[in-house]
Amino acid sequence: MSETLTQRRARLMGPNVPTFYETPVHLVRGEGVWLWDAEGRKYLDAYNNVPHVGHCHPKVVEAICRQAGVLNTHTRYLHDLVLDYIERLTATMGHGLSQAIMVCTGSEANDIALRMAQAATGKRGIIATDNTYHGNTTATSQLSTRRPPIGGYPAHVRLVPAPDSLRPVGGSREGQAAAFARNVARAIAELEDSGIGFSGMMLCPFFANEGFPAIEPGFFAETEAVIRRARGLILCDEVQPGFGRLGSHMWGHDWLGIRPDVVTVGKPMANGHPVAAVVARPDVMADFREAFGYFNTFGGNPVSAAACLATLDVMQEEGLQANAAKVGAYALDRLRALRHPLLAEVRGHGLFFGAEFVLDDAMTPATAFVAEVVERMRARGILTNRIGRHMNTLKIRPPMPFGLAEADLLIDTLAEVLAESAVPA
Ligand code: PMP
Repeated sequence: MSETLTQRRARLMGPNVPTFYETPVHLVRGEGVWLWDAEGRKYLDAYNNVPHVGHCHPKVVEAICRQAGVLNTHTRYLHDLVLDYIERLTATMGHGLSQAIMVCTGSEANDIALRMAQAATGKRGIIATDNTYHGNTTATSQLSTRRPPIGGYPAHVRLVPAPDSLRPVGGSREGQAAAFARNVARAIAELEDSGIGFSGMMLCPFFANEGFPAIEPGFFAETEAVIRRARGLILCDEVQPGFGRLGSHMWGHDWLGIRPDVVTVGKPMANGHPVAAVVARPDVMADFREAFGYFNTFGGNPVSAAACLATLDVMQEEGLQANAAKVGAYALDRLRALRHPLLAEVRGHGLFFGAEFVLDDAMTPATAFVAEVVERMRARGILTNRIGRHMNTLKIRPPMPFGLAEADLLIDTLAEVLAESAVPA
């Protein structure tokens, strides 16, 4: 019997390499918000944020090919394109964030951000939420809570309870922001008392991996004041909400209303080409450059810079941030009109939204139910996923050209799936 692709992967890549869906999808082609599998089946992509301006956007493909045919080197030689890009990128940010280091992944970017906080404060203690993911390097995986580090969390890492819509920190939605700030203050005091000291807090301003709880702009104001008093840095991980996805704002931190010292960007930045960056104020950058020698062979190479520039161009030419605001608002309205006994909350902002399902008034997570919904959506040709502490929140985060017609298809299909999905006894 011939070997399946799944068996071949296991033979060549080792066991437990994660795939989405019970039967993994074998994709061979993409265009815009559409994907095709090896059998020619077409899928609506309602999940992937990396192909930000649409799968295989011809302008990005052309920019990559053109530059690859002229020159590709690294930042130890001088080149205009990487500087042109840093100028364009930092022009979209405020808060004095005017310098950047180009890297290849969000994990690398966050790793540097952690070291910037150390360099600026001379301390090491770091705070994150207890239900997040900031990357796969040794340092960032210590802030990533899906699988605790071997040997447990190190003493310099403190994880505070993540904000949650249905099970708010401190017991009430109104009190959640203050309770969150109190927990951060306590973690800072512990770090200082232990002699490790506090260097900063890393957070996704949309709390994406936490399950994008329904918080309001201003949620972080008290926590920000606590961090400032302790002279720590605020490190905003924009890997998921950044680049206009929230519709109303280019950056999640501006939506939430905070003033970061360091911002990391990645995933959608070059439409699938592996690029990420750390953006900082010049004083923080100077502290970092003083404390650490840093060079990244592939970060900031001319082909990556060309892909980044083309992605920004397309975003602007096609008005994709405005599209995210329009289509996101429309989809949320339609989702809110859905009725199902297990549907507890519809939430989100721009083209990042979803719904949380629970079994009862005690808010018991309907984890298996949502897993089934995701599988049924896939069986009907729509790719979605789930997230949150209990993996019971349906997560929708499509490429930015997702239009009103696609939103209708998505929600009509979801309505059918919900109508036929058995309510567990
Ligand atoms: N930060 C966040 C919030 C992420 O969701 C991810 C990836 N899912 C990362 C960082 C890591 O990015 P990368 O996989 O590019 O290293």
